[in-house]
Amino acid sequence: MGTLDAKVALVTGGSSGIGRAAALAFAREGARVVVSDIVEEGGRETLDMIRKAGGEAIFVKVDVIRAEEVEAMVKRTVETYGRLDCAFNNAGVGGEIATIENSREEVWDRVLAINLKSVWLCMKYEVPQMLSQGGGAIVNTASVAGLIGFPAQAAYVASKHGVIGLTKSAALDHARSGIRVNAICPGVIRTPMIGRRLDAKPNREAAYIAMEPVGRLGEPQEIAEAVVWLCSDAASFVTGHSMAVDGGLVAR
Ligand code: NAD
Repeated sequence: MGTLDAKVALVTGGSSGIGRAAALAFAREGARVVVSDIVEEGGRETLDMIRKAGGEAIFVKVDVIRAEEVEAMVKRTVETYGRLDCAFNNAGVGGEIATIENSREEVWDRVLAINLKSVWLCMKYEVPQMLSQGGGAIVNTASVAGLIGFPAQAAYVASKHGVIGLTKSAALDHARSGIRVNAICPGVIRTPMIGRRLDAKPNREAAYIAMEPVGRLGEPQEIAEAVVWLCSDAASFVTGHSMAVDGGLVAR
């Protein structure tokens, strides 16, 4: 028996990193999974991994900043599996490392669109389906950068603070409709997003580890387990919460 038996879960950014780990964890817990991402190849790999482990999933290609594609993703989920119980709105990008005056406007617009507007767009189409079936659980990916500031990352930090505000607002909109909306705030997690930053500057790894009181980076699975719990009935009284899964980073 899994904690998500008979449920249907949707994951954006499911081709890589935290999204892939969550898709695998949803499937392990018995959910049928819709893996979505703008990158098709990684999505197919995630599907293979789920199916090899005995799970059931489909892949839907979507650019989460395009409303018509997000709407079609939710529609396809319901056409395929009949409902939508758990939505993990997770696709995101890191942006550039630059102080305010050196930041580019086009990067600001892109980071805010992919990390923040997309979460609103996803919920805009997920919520009506959840209302029509009497409830559901949504988890949005924020970050420790949604709870505290970091230098030279204004767009990313602003986008993730925005995700937390959006999450609280959506949670209050639907607290009496059986829809719970929470945010997850990962610390520094070993994913391709962080890998790209380490490739650019290998000595950053020591700095990242130094930020983590536990003395190591997190693994994608450690975020996935918290996401599954937030989506499960075990978290039935948890809504509007922003959960740090961060090795103690924001406890300092
Ligand atoms: P990742 O780069 O491994 O995965 C991100 C995924 O999002 C990729 O598969 C990418 O193709 C997809 N994506 C990007 N733009 C998209 C778009 N427009 N439409 C659809 N899909 C798109 O990175 P990750 O570390 O797994 O990041 C997942 C989430 O976790 C992001 O929101 C990120 O900001 C957040 N996060 C990561 C860390 C970390 O340390 N890795 C920490 C805090 C928060």
